[in-house]
Amino acid sequence: MGGVSRGMISGKTELLALIGRPVGHSLSPAMHNAAFVADGLDFVYVCLDVDPAELPAAVRGMEALGFRGFNVTMPHKRAMILLVDELDEGARISGAVNTVVIEDTGLRGYNTDGDGMVMACQEAGIELSGRSVLLLGAGGTAAAIAVAFGNAGIGELHIANRSVERTAQLRDRLHETDLEGLVVHHLDSVEEAVPDAEIVINATPLGMKEGDPMPVPAGYVRKNRVFCDAVYRPGTQTPLIRLARERGVPVVSGDRMLLYQGVLAQKLWTGREPNVRAMDRAIS
Ligand code: NAP
Repeated sequence: MGGVSRGMISGKTELLALIGRPVGHSLSPAMHNAAFVADGLDFVYVCLDVDPAELPAAVRGMEALGFRGFNVTMPHKRAMILLVDELDEGARISGAVNTVVIEDTGLRGYNTDGDGMVMACQEAGIELSGRSVLLLGAGGTAAAIAVAFGNAGIGELHIANRSVERTAQLRDRLHETDLEGLVVHHLDSVEEAVPDAEIVINATPLGMKEGDPMPVPAGYVRKNRVFCDAVYRPGTQTPLIRLARERGVPVVSGDRMLLYQGVLAQKLWTGREPNVRAMDRAIS
């Protein structure tokens, strides 16, 4: 680590990767490599397109080749749970791993997505303590956000999802946390069921594609609340963030979450405070 010409690959360069399918569109290589170049760290981060059937072989391969670690994205986040030796709280409760550190003693699985969203809110000056939060979605990202927001001391958490089964599963998983005031709803009922939410977080994929419906009715997007979106679309805004900005509603967009989940992952691999400014510039 350290001591190389900026951006050069040496005989000792440490290897990091993003595994997923597809991965070619990812901003993560630009984001991580920018910090390594800026600080002269002898690391390189690449994208590896991995067939789900080959996931165990790919992980064993990275271990055998001496990779320092890797990020995990769709569709491997859940399957990764079974391939690591240890899990942090966010990964265990959410059932999804987004970051792995390869140690001599085995593989450590983390989920930095939830804390990434917390840090993005902190960056925006949003107080979380005691606040009433409405979380849209009950998948791996929603679960990781629920754990992290619980740890950040929110007041009550309303989870609204499309399918009842997944909501019930998440509620059961969250029972082992200290989260108080947990209430679940159907996604279609938020306007009537949760009139007082102060912070609303979209953790469904709605907004990823042009023409997607909004995750909440447009009338719900009002100035007395903050809107956070896990979804990000390089070069454009999600309809939710666009509408909120038009109405002067405070927002935290998905690219800020992307930045901070990456900052947390990089710190786990290098043991150093990442160069946040270089990472931010690379994705802006
Ligand atoms: P997931 O595990 O597949 O969960 C998706 C959730 O969204 C489920 O609760 C699902 O409901 C709901 N959903 C899916 N399609 C829907 C639709 N058409 N209408 C209403 N609800 C729908 O996915 P995930 O891993 O949690 O990821 C969610 C989103 O977060 C993705 O867009 C991902 O790109 C984004 N993300 C962003 C970052 C970042 O750094 N910014 C990090 C992680 C994830 P059902 O239970 O009814 O299927």
